[in-house]
Amino acid sequence: MRRIASALAVLAVCGFAAGSAVADKHGSVKVYWTASGKFGPFNIQGLIPTYPEARDILIPINMWVIDHPKGLVVYDTGNNVAISDGNCASHWAQGNCDFLMPSQTRGDVIDQQLEKLGYSTSDVKVVITSHSHLDHIGNIEMFPDAIHVIQKRELYQAWWPEKFQRPSGAHVVGDYDEAREFNYHAIDGDMDLFGDGTVMILSTPGHTLGHQSVRLELANTGTVVLSQDAIWMEENLEGHPAGLNYSILDYFDSVNRLKMMADIQNGQLWFGHSIRQYDSMGENWYD
Ligand SMILES: [Zn+2]
Ligand SMILES: [Zn+2]
Repeated sequence: MRRIASALAVLAVCGFAAGSAVADKHGSVKVYWTASGKFGPFNIQGLIPTYPEARDILIPINMWVIDHPKGLVVYDTGNNVAISDGNCASHWAQGNCDFLMPSQTRGDVIDQQLEKLGYSTSDVKVVITSHSHLDHIGNIEMFPDAIHVIQKRELYQAWWPEKFQRPSGAHVVGDYDEAREFNYHAIDGDMDLFGDGTVMILSTPGHTLGHQSVRLELANTGTVVLSQDAIWMEENLEGHPAGLNYSILDYFDSVNRLKMMADIQNGQLWFGHSIRQYDSMGENWYD
């Protein structure tokens, strides 16, 4: 009888321990959804040329702060601080300022967003950059001590964009020219960032040569896929591709990869630039 009781006690302890391990793995990972201001209003057909109805939209410039037990992560650093408060043309081509109409204030910039959450830029262990467009890589120079995880091919993309991307100024070399000696973990494909499956970097080329997305496993929210520019917004899931692509074939492969991954895992897709999602879900923590 005593033997049975002790066996039950061992089982109970084991069960408790296993439960705790799961809780530790997921329970302390959380993500904050913020934005480096907005672009617009402009006609959605300026972004998605095949969309059948003209309509003016605003889009948020999404950024994510991921708090993991092994370190703080920023996924994309938004628009360069220099364009804040109406000073767009001091750092961007005038044509981009006229079309995108950024509304970023100084308080929207990633360093101040981190401060509002109780962190500083020096607390950030890892910066993940989805791609090298001006609304995603804008402030990597604020993180000289972080490890920068980026696809190796995206570094090529940043330093020598295709000619069709150059006149538009979608890449602003001044965003990263002083970050050349930073610590880059230049990867080629997917990466399980902390080795526990909670923060998964996914290779999603197409929009640019080396675009990457992120999948999170959260204890309460579940599986969340942060597409960034692999999928701008809901309309792109209706078969209307983004108007700016390195490769339309790779783009569709990446859209399908993320959509099916989220569907199979009963997860959510959080898009790169959806105002509907941001208005209902932005400026919140998710765990
Ligand atoms: Zn982009
Ligand atoms: Zn973008």
